[in-house]
Amino acid sequence: MAETASILVVDDEKGIREGCRRILISEGYTVDLAGNGKEGLEVITTKPFDLILVDLMMPVMGGLEMMEEVRQYDPEIIMIVITGFATIETAVEAMKHGAYDYMPKPFSPDQLLAVVNRGLEKRRLRLQAQRLMEERDQKLLEVANEESRIHTIVNSMADGILVTNKERQLVLWNPAAVKMINLNEKLGAVKNIEKVVPEKALVRLIDKALSPDSSQYTAISEEIELTRPERRTLMVNVSVIRDKDGRELGIVSTLRDITSLKELDQVKSQFVSMVTHELRAPLAAVEGYLSAYLSGSAGNDPQMNRQMLERAKARAHSLLDLVNDLLQFSRLESKKVERKKELLNLSGVITGTVELLKNQGEAKELEFEVDISETLPLVEADRSEMEQLFTNLISNAIKYNVKKGKVTIAAGSSNHYLSIRVADTGLGIAKENLPNIFDEFYRVSGPETRYVTGTGLGLSIVKRIAESHFGRVEVESKLGKGTAFTVKLPIKKEQ
Ligand code: ATP
Ligand code: MG
Repeated sequence: MAETASILVVDDEKGIREGCRRILISEGYTVDLAGNGKEGLEVITTKPFDLILVDLMMPVMGGLEMMEEVRQYDPEIIMIVITGFATIETAVEAMKHGAYDYMPKPFSPDQLLAVVNRGLEKRRLRLQAQRLMEERDQKLLEVANEESRIHTIVNSMADGILVTNKERQLVLWNPAAVKMINLNEKLGAVKNIEKVVPEKALVRLIDKALSPDSSQYTAISEEIELTRPERRTLMVNVSVIRDKDGRELGIVSTLRDITSLKELDQVKSQFVSMVTHELRAPLAAVEGYLSAYLSGSAGNDPQMNRQMLERAKARAHSLLDLVNDLLQFSRLESKKVERKKELLNLSGVITGTVELLKNQGEAKELEFEVDISETLPLVEADRSEMEQLFTNLISNAIKYNVKKGKVTIAAGSSNHYLSIRVADTGLGIAKENLPNIFDEFYRVSGPETRYVTGTGLGLSIVKRIAESHFGRVEVESKLGKGTAFTVKLPIKKEQ
């Protein structure tokens, strides 16, 4: 800046102006001149100046008045007063108007340069200090921003976060952690973990990570069961934070609520044990019949033996039914079913299914009444799934019917829906059991249904199929009178 500093000399004496110019230019400064305060102000607005030398007594506008204006215009410009009658009073007056220094006339070139250089140095320092201050403010702002960003991220995480220093004090935590473990965050400054963390198992885990023999691992994961405020399972991961020399700085614990995963796991194993139980009974029966037959312990009566094999066959058949149900069920469950939907007239599907199942009703001497027009409105459906749906409904109407009972199947349409009603005059379902019949594996238990075989999957499959075709199933039933299931499917095309 010293080389390129720009200086304005304001004096009504031409000799002084020119003299100053010569001296300052020889030092490498850029110099402008003005004959009075008014002219000086005009020059100042044309370009930036670092320093001005100003005479006090001038015509048109004096030095004090001009300095006042300059100070308003740019307070960083250094002003030095040159005066012919330097007294303490004039100096004080000049300082009041913002002058940095003053110089009595006459002065030598060295005196002039000494004062000007000092003034410029002052300006340089002042600008530098200002710049440093601005930089510091900027840095502080950045740090504050960074901190608040991390804060926001940590606070909005679904996983709980707890940071402990190696003195076992809690130094950082987030709302998720507070909620998960009922963290006592309103404690004083010293937050020893056993004071703030109510969960003993968690404290033990953190201590384990802090213990001297923990150096072989960097993280420990463990499941922790909570009983308060409610039963929950947390997966806790405790990581040791070390500096670059391997010294421990503290522990970061992340807490993840895995309660619903655990529950799912439990449902799954319940399902498996239920299925294996269902498979075991018929298999054991089949094995029993076959062993009795092979060992001859059942005697030699061919009639008896045949009966036994028939029973074994029936049990094997129901076993196959169960396995087919399970397969279909898991296919529907995994939603990976590939449906081959086509424009379908259900009339053929229904009458075909009735024909197939009719002989199952022979023992009970059931009467079948099928009142279905050959030209039903078309629905968009997968044929084999529709066959399954009606097989399940009609076989229920047969299985849960009474001797000389009746099965009535009818179809009709209203409000863009095709309704197919499968009704029986059988056992009926008690009101309290109705809400459960569409649940997987649900079967009504009672003396009449005791000997009817089944898995309890049939109706849940019916419901899933209807819903995957944008339809629904409704049921009405009266205990001891009979039951009617109605399937409603959207009509794609009238015939
Ligand atoms: P699956 O059909 O898998 O062989 P299931 O017939 O026992 O076995 P669902 O068809 O799901 O299973 O029926 C569930 C229960 O609802 C049956 O166990 C039975 O108690 C009752 N139920 C179903 N249909 C009728 C009906 N038409 N009349 C009386 N009760 C019925
Ligand atoms: Mg059934």
